[in-house]
Amino acid sequence: MDANKASAFIGKLWDDEVVPQITDYIKIPNKSPMFDKDWQAHGYMDAAVALMEKWARAKLASLPGATLEVVRLEGRTPLIFIDVPASGNAARVDDCVLLYGHLDKQPEMTGWSEGLGPWTPVLKGDRLYGRGGADDGYAIFGSLTALLALHDQGVPHARCVVMIEACEESGSYDLPYYVDHLAPRIGQPTLVVCLDSGCANYDQLWLTTSLRGMTGGELTVEVLTEGVHSGDASGVVPDSFRIVRDLLSRLEDPASGEILPKELYVEVPAERIEQAKQCAEILGDEVFDKFPWMPGMQPVSTDRVELILNRTWRPQLAVTGADGLPPLASAGNVLRPSTSLKLSLRLPPTANGAKSGVFVKQLLEADPPYGAKVSFKLEKDGGGWNAPQLSDWLNSAVSKASQDAFGAPAAYMGEGGSIPFMGMLGEKFPRAQFLITGVLGPHSNAHGPNEFLHIPTGKNVTAVVASVVAAHAQASADNLT
Ligand SMILES: [Zn+2]
Repeated sequence: MDANKASAFIGKLWDDEVVPQITDYIKIPNKSPMFDKDWQAHGYMDAAVALMEKWARAKLASLPGATLEVVRLEGRTPLIFIDVPASGNAARVDDCVLLYGHLDKQPEMTGWSEGLGPWTPVLKGDRLYGRGGADDGYAIFGSLTALLALHDQGVPHARCVVMIEACEESGSYDLPYYVDHLAPRIGQPTLVVCLDSGCANYDQLWLTTSLRGMTGGELTVEVLTEGVHSGDASGVVPDSFRIVRDLLSRLEDPASGEILPKELYVEVPAERIEQAKQCAEILGDEVFDKFPWMPGMQPVSTDRVELILNRTWRPQLAVTGADGLPPLASAGNVLRPSTSLKLSLRLPPTANGAKSGVFVKQLLEADPPYGAKVSFKLEKDGGGWNAPQLSDWLNSAVSKASQDAFGAPAAYMGEGGSIPFMGMLGEKFPRAQFLITGVLGPHSNAHGPNEFLHIPTGKNVTAVVASVVAAHAQASADNLT
């Protein structure tokens, strides 16, 4: 593959078509089903699918024999399935590459800067602002553009399957059904490409070596059947907020944030500790500077390696929502009947998500203080993922691809977030190698306000995918995959 020619092809297609397409996609409020129970009636998901389908179908004309189907299993979110036949006869016929992405979005979140908004695409310099452009709308466009760049030069590739799901931000609960349904059509991929991850800077290729799992749900403490005068009741009726606070202390040390039960930890592999040290070297204060701190705020630790390990290999809790608490403007002097919190507990990559969830439920519900009615409604239990040992062909392919696309060496880092599908794939395809990367770099703020897609990184990552898919075909022909 002529890397310069590929970069020029990719850059032009991004400017001419991909950026305008993603701009239109950002306008669609197709929130993941967990955040839009009436998603079917609203029709936004169908609109997002239709937008991508229309563009992809037009492009498939340049990929001989390629097919696209929007698969719709009864009562489930749709899935875009694209099958691109092998080209150039290099790869083994039974070999294939699976390229994954998702099209559902996180909800709005507050705090968007003036002039920006979740469903208002704004292009400012290199950045395209709006919900879902970077997480993960660009995946289908990047994947197909990479394949088009190969065809433009007649570079061989194995059969490629592109799967774009619509349930990822809800924990991918529909996806296993599609993987089973489509198993004969997917085949046995030896390379999985996932463009839904992060990068620690925009200067080089970042390969994701692990993803955390997660569990979580709604913790509710009920103490009264109705609210009462707080002057009358306080000191007699225990406040439900205090009980919640007490229960959370079973899970984490309130002073340090350290998760307490050893059952929620795993031993961190030595290689990952080594890579965390290298990351800390490369990134310096970017390890924490990338966050929008309030003046005077400091990170959990001054040790950058510890921060990286906390973020990638240790369990950590975030309280992401509350109920039973009126907004401040309407809060009277009432001892409220109940308090509910939404808990999001990230888990180490190799921890068992389902078991951890059951453990947390038992921990929180046991021996309720004062006999309060305590319930923890488990909502999600996604397993994490730890990359298999990188094979030699992929190692050199990734190095070359990063140099060609970014002009800098590749770097390796665990991610703090979760992509539930990767753990599932690792189990289903034990021989597969993984290229997991993405455009979610410093300040890109997926899930928060002011999310943006860094367009030069989108182009570079696309070029990396083209280069690695080409290298995969060669490795397959040489029986190395
Ligand atoms: Zn995503």
